[in-house]
Amino acid sequence: MPYKDPQKRREANARYAAKNKDKIAARVSKWTKETKPWLKPESIEYMANYRVEHAEEISIQTKERCALWYEKNRDEELVKRQAWRDENRDLVRAQHKASHCRNREKRLAEMRAYYLEHREEMLVEMKIYRLEHLDEKRVYLAAYYLANRERLLENMAQYAVDHPEVYAAARVRYRARKAGAPINDFTAAQWRLMQEICDHFCAYCRERAPGKLHREHLTPLSKGGPNTWSNILPACAKCNSEKGTGPVLCPVQPFML
Ligand SMILES: [Zn+2]
Repeated sequence: MPYKDPQKRREANARYAAKNKDKIAARVSKWTKETKPWLKPESIEYMANYRVEHAEEISIQTKERCALWYEKNRDEELVKRQAWRDENRDLVRAQHKASHCRNREKRLAEMRAYYLEHREEMLVEMKIYRLEHLDEKRVYLAAYYLANRERLLENMAQYAVDHPEVYAAARVRYRARKAGAPINDFTAAQWRLMQEICDHFCAYCRERAPGKLHREHLTPLSKGGPNTWSNILPACAKCNSEKGTGPVLCPVQPFML
């Protein structure tokens, strides 16, 4: 695991250098022999030893030299690096992705901490951004839908199969929205709870029909009834279709909660 903290890294390097003097000297000798074959063996040995003995000093000097060089060649170097990145797009992308995966947990934790600290202002910013870019988003979503229509429809169909309750609640909400219902907040969880409270009995004929009850709107959606807890009762299919949009079949106590 490489050290992020430069001080720690320097210390680790120094520890490594102190422990592996011979190894480093051998490596430096080999490299010098290859790049400067005209040097005498004793000079090579001297240079290698000097390098090992003065490792820290040399490293600082090198760093300073590099910094100076970079300062002088900055613009040229940046252009060169960008050109290299443009040429090796796929490689850069793969490296980014790998680093992404490696540091996933850490980055998520950082993001979470930042979010918790700046929650309020971020929410305001997001809301403003959303409002300012409504049209763009609409265009983008429409294009995305067209391009991915089949896959999206397949996903939706699969979701409806996997989550029938959520899907049914969404359908009722959609119907209520189309009918212009004044309140539209009845959820799948509330429907589940309501059936449990009634022990899965039809509110009109008292027939027990677990999993087969309908959401009966006391004031029908088509007559401006709200899609909310207090306007809904569980009813069996028969009673629901018999009542239709007419008056309630018998006196019932709506859920005034
Ligand atoms: Zn019934």
